[in-house]
Amino acid sequence: MPVARYPWVLPHPLRVTFMAGNRGHSVWHSVLGSLQLQVPRPSFDTWLKDTAGFPGEDGSFVVCTPSPFVAEMLERRMYCLIGDALEKITGARPEVRFTVAYSPDRKTVDDRAQNVQPADSDAEPPPRGRQARLNGNFTFGSFVVGKSNELAHAASMAVAAGPGCTYNPLVIYSGVGLGKTHLLHAIGHRILNQGRKVAYRTTEEFTNEYISAIREKSTDNFREFYRGADALLLDDIQFIIGKEQTQEGFFHTFNALHMANRQVVIASDRPVGSLTLLEDRMKSRLSGGLVVDIQAPDPETRRAILKTKADRSDADIPDEVVDYLADHEYSSIRDLDGHLNRVTAFAQLLSQPVTLDLVQRATADLTPRRTATPVTAEHVIECVCGYFGIDVSAVMGRRRDRPTALARQVAMYLAKHDTGLGLTTIGKVMGGRDHSTVSYACSRIAERISHDSSLERDIANIRRSLTKS
Ligand code: ADP
Ligand code: MG
Repeated sequence: MPVARYPWVLPHPLRVTFMAGNRGHSVWHSVLGSLQLQVPRPSFDTWLKDTAGFPGEDGSFVVCTPSPFVAEMLERRMYCLIGDALEKITGARPEVRFTVAYSPDRKTVDDRAQNVQPADSDAEPPPRGRQARLNGNFTFGSFVVGKSNELAHAASMAVAAGPGCTYNPLVIYSGVGLGKTHLLHAIGHRILNQGRKVAYRTTEEFTNEYISAIREKSTDNFREFYRGADALLLDDIQFIIGKEQTQEGFFHTFNALHMANRQVVIASDRPVGSLTLLEDRMKSRLSGGLVVDIQAPDPETRRAILKTKADRSDADIPDEVVDYLADHEYSSIRDLDGHLNRVTAFAQLLSQPVTLDLVQRATADLTPRRTATPVTAEHVIECVCGYFGIDVSAVMGRRRDRPTALARQVAMYLAKHDTGLGLTTIGKVMGGRDHSTVSYACSRIAERISHDSSLERDIANIRRSLTKS
């Protein structure tokens, strides 16, 4: 079966997308859930993660991939596996066609995006979003906001509403799978919908383009192209570490865009300050804008995300199942998604309803529940000291400087709330202190948390490390 060849002009898959609607999309979701159980994780992430699938007009099933290479590999290596999974889930075995969702001819494609009328809302994937290499599923509409990401979300909305006018650059950082790429794409859709020009690139793509431009002596075109964009959305900036030539290219492009009031949004797996091999002048440029982080999702956010995804799924997922899944610790929303996909795939493969019992079987080997790890006062002290970078002996001793006093009070607070020990016992463990000292420390921290969000965040981070080890 032939894989579509360049140029990847896309009328067909796009038409399919809009006709198929959510139903087709969720079939593919279930197929992915099922494949996730059969294919090793690295292969799944490399070949299947960024694909979309829809029933075609002619009875075939169309799988859209991000590159011709992926299309070819899937067709060669996973054709039967995909067919089997489709058959199990839909009861039919349609012909599967593989095609590429975007054109590698970026300039033409992005330019063409300018001619499309603005869409009313970003709930549906706007065609030009696809053409501008934006994932139609990653919109503000599908982004669930909770405590762990509200700052990044608010900053992204502000930037999307007035590109170049508010925070420039906007830097979003977090661990993997927590929504940076999703927000970058959501910003891209919004800005495109205003009829402006957007360039979304991973830093790796940006680097490759820059290197080719140098090789082909076309750096003028490269600069001109990026300087013509109203917004540059650059993903995974940590890739630039140690690559001096790319840093140089980025720095000049960035300066030109910034001086012309063009918006730059950057996503990083690490806080800018810790990108140690990034040149100082770049670091200070980046932190000159607004830097926001996304934390691992708290239980309420996990529940809200799961509930939203469960409501969109074809399967009937009871609230008790959502609660059960939300009660696990996840270091990323990608894992949260993966668990839900796995559960729906299980139910579909076994032709059973999604019940708590089935979910427990499907997720038996996954992350243990938070409550399973007993926390001791000694462990609390270690984690608190590790987090604040203070010696355990200082916290246990009599030092009264501010950082030490704060760490001591936080340790007492967490020991009270997370170990189940009484105040007297905690006082003894904390260097022989009186129970009234512990009580005072706990109320002091509780009071500070109510108005000091950065302390609240520190405590949430320490709590996560408590349950990890
Ligand atoms: P990152 O770029 O930080 O590694 P992604 O943006 O790729 O993470 O997110 C991983 C997955 O989790 C994506 O499928 C994304 O849509 C989903 N996701 C992340 N955050 C949210 C959220 N707040 N609401 C809904 N889905 C989310
Ligand atoms: Mg990402």
